[in-house]
Amino acid sequence: MSNQTKHSTLLQGAGADHATLSEQFNKDEARVNWHDETLWWIRLKRDKAAHNIPEWEQLRETASQIKNNVLSNLSEYLVQFEEQAKRNGAIVHWAADAKEHNKIVLSIIKQHNETRLVKSKSMLTEECHLNEYLKTNGIEVIDTDLGERIVQLADEPPSHIVLPCIHWKKEEIGELFHQQLGTPEGNADPQFLAHAARLHLREKFLTRKIAITGVNFAIAETGEFVVCTNEGNADMGAHLADVHIACMAIEKIIPERKHLGVFLRLLARSATGQPVTTYSSHFKNPRSHQELHIVLVDNGRSTQLGREDFRNSLKCIRCAACFNTCPVYRRSGGHSYHTAIAGPIGSILAPNLDMKQYADLPFASTLCGSCSNVCPVKIDIHQQLYKWRQVLVQQGYAPASKKIAMKSMAVTLSSPSLYKTAGKAVRWLVKHLSFITNNKLNPWYKQREMPEVPKQSFNEWYKKNKKFPGQPPAPKGE
Ligand code: SF4
Repeated sequence: MSNQTKHSTLLQGAGADHATLSEQFNKDEARVNWHDETLWWIRLKRDKAAHNIPEWEQLRETASQIKNNVLSNLSEYLVQFEEQAKRNGAIVHWAADAKEHNKIVLSIIKQHNETRLVKSKSMLTEECHLNEYLKTNGIEVIDTDLGERIVQLADEPPSHIVLPCIHWKKEEIGELFHQQLGTPEGNADPQFLAHAARLHLREKFLTRKIAITGVNFAIAETGEFVVCTNEGNADMGAHLADVHIACMAIEKIIPERKHLGVFLRLLARSATGQPVTTYSSHFKNPRSHQELHIVLVDNGRSTQLGREDFRNSLKCIRCAACFNTCPVYRRSGGHSYHTAIAGPIGSILAPNLDMKQYADLPFASTLCGSCSNVCPVKIDIHQQLYKWRQVLVQQGYAPASKKIAMKSMAVTLSSPSLYKTAGKAVRWLVKHLSFITNNKLNPWYKQREMPEVPKQSFNEWYKKNKKFPGQPPAPKGE
């Protein structure tokens, strides 16, 4: 079986929920263990980098406060940014949603009679499914981030926002490059593969006249924007192209240039444990004879801003620290989230776009809170996930079986005598008719041993053992 076939099996079942897609990922136990350990290793690198800065917590607090200000004054900062960017010579477009964003990008390409372009990493364009849209309109898009190019060659979406092909092993990439780029069979040396990718991409950079980039930070004060990469591919594309299109989500604004240092110090350390991203490139004025377009995209963000409980999710700087620490993400893989931005933050953002389609995602969490602890902008991620669960149940998007189970549980737990009777009945059933719980219809039983049923309830045990010295007597009755 080829790598492409192997990996595309992970994507089977479009329309399937997180649990079903995770089960597919979990079929390859070795991959799951390795994926888990690799991401945990990155989490540890992040911890080390954070602990090396005594003012780390102060930085997080400052970043969070700056973003609070941005979210409270977003429209003003956006207008200020637009005015400054226009003064700098950029052409600014506004897109209400993904459809409009894609149309604007296509119209710019068509104005220049081009059919080919290079694109550096932009999760916004993934969210808008820009590549697919352009492809159906006859435009060839070459992703130039190495990880993104690998998944593009394999016809897959990225599985992680910072490390798009983290689920691929180097041997598999060697085989993919052999099939797609004609490298010698069996060569999986990372240095050799990176060199092959560099040669392959160099030709694309030199021949494409349009380059698309994302935007990490946009400064309202100056109208400039910053793109962070470790490979320099955004710079290479934008500097060689006649037309630079920067696709920017509206929450990427920061008020002043002096605020940038706060975010740049947090971003790379939180993402990979590096002190700073290798290239933090500022774009302000277009080069002479170059056109610079900035497309400002809402796509549901104004709605999220209006949701009191979830507006803070717009502070996200896409570092992926919450992915790397999440025990569910690490063992279920990015594709199981069936949305462009996976992981804990994706599970908050996606239901805002479509509650029905993404109703499963806020439940794909242990609510352990590790995500909130590592978030550099202090988003209360696990609390928002918990809140989404309540909203989704209230709005009728929880499965009927879950609703019935929870209602029965509420009735049972609110009546001591009913609880006692139910406990006895369940202990007897599990002991004598164990197939009732130990069967494949029980999701817990699929991957776990069910615990042995205790001989007595805690209540019975307590009544027998209540005479501890110094302990208050057990309450009478129940
Ligand atoms: S929610 Fe926080 S930790 Fe997660 S990607 Fe965004 S900024 Fe990073």
